[in-house]
Amino acid sequence: MTETRYFRKGFGLRAEVHKDVEREFDSGIVRDLIGGDHTLTSNGLTFLLAKQFGFCYGVDRAVDYAYETRKVYPDSRIFLMGQIIHNPAVNHRIQEMGIRMVHEPLVDVPDLGEGDVVIIPAFGVPAQDLLALKEAGPDLVDTTCGSVLTVWKNVEKYARGGFTSLIHGKHYHEETKATASRALLHPGGRYLVVLNVAEVQVVCDYIRGDGDREEFLSRFEGAYSENFDPDRDLVRVGMANQTTMLASESLTVQEMVREAMIARFGEDGVGEHLIAFDTICPATQDRQDALLCLLQDPLDLAIVIGGYNSSNTGHLAKIAAGYVPTFHIQNVEEILDENRIRHRNTEGELTETEGWFPEGDVRIGLTAGASTPNLEIGRVVTRLMEFRP
Ligand code: SF4
Repeated sequence: MTETRYFRKGFGLRAEVHKDVEREFDSGIVRDLIGGDHTLTSNGLTFLLAKQFGFCYGVDRAVDYAYETRKVYPDSRIFLMGQIIHNPAVNHRIQEMGIRMVHEPLVDVPDLGEGDVVIIPAFGVPAQDLLALKEAGPDLVDTTCGSVLTVWKNVEKYARGGFTSLIHGKHYHEETKATASRALLHPGGRYLVVLNVAEVQVVCDYIRGDGDREEFLSRFEGAYSENFDPDRDLVRVGMANQTTMLASESLTVQEMVREAMIARFGEDGVGEHLIAFDTICPATQDRQDALLCLLQDPLDLAIVIGGYNSSNTGHLAKIAAGYVPTFHIQNVEEILDENRIRHRNTEGELTETEGWFPEGDVRIGLTAGASTPNLEIGRVVTRLMEFRP
């Protein structure tokens, strides 16, 4: 029987490797922006950077741990479950360090075992995968963020108390898959994942007694636990969410479910049927609040930088689009020239826009998702400066 060693607190080399990470991903221009009260003006272009942006504490820690792991295991095979974070440049660098990304380590690497190392990303992994890895025997370096662990604790508590976890999130997202799996750690534990207000409305209608069971199950297929029965499983509900959702939407979702429970069980009975905690992580909340603050300034456009598969970046872009023309780009290469830009629109489609950059003086709002290094922001600013040499 092999014995897995399980590391959750790094290897004590964080201060040392963090210097390497900074050297590779920091940006002088971003430092200048911060030093200038988050504002920089050059030849008619004014850049205004949100007060909170870019790498969050969970991502910082996960990237540092990956670097530490390489240092501590210079000769071992190191695998990473999925992506360390949702940023192509950082993932590319991790691969350059000889860390191989695998989605299902036990399938993709049949001989995985003692002597190997597997890194678990900041979003965590489903409970059953963690168990299987522990049995297989590689050393495990777990970088799951503390804010994600807090959500898991709530979900487990709901399951122990006989409540269904109603999770506001994307059922196909790594973090939500990992969160949902925690509901199944206890006998009778169940979950349902809802994506947006429209889906929550269907759930609320059902709670109020207005819904068809078969239609409901077909609509949410893939987003609930095995043997989910809306008649039985929507009577006692505990609210949770993917940590990177739109905070305002998560609050709306909670309120909608509360009203539906009151309609069905009365004001006095709601405590028996609904438990809710705010589990949006503070870093996500801070970035959304800082962007809302930035959008109070007069701006001609906003640029939101971050991976196209990054949930929190997508939500930042959605917020900004409610105020000014907004372009969500994953990196500087998307800025084709002063006339054309490739970007992801609010419907989630990749598109190209012509005539995107105004003439004359321009005020540009900038922010970046929690997995975007400063280097990417600096490159975007440098590129735009070339438009007004
Ligand atoms: S976005 Fe929040 S939950 Fe996710 S890694 Fe960052 S701090 Fe942790």
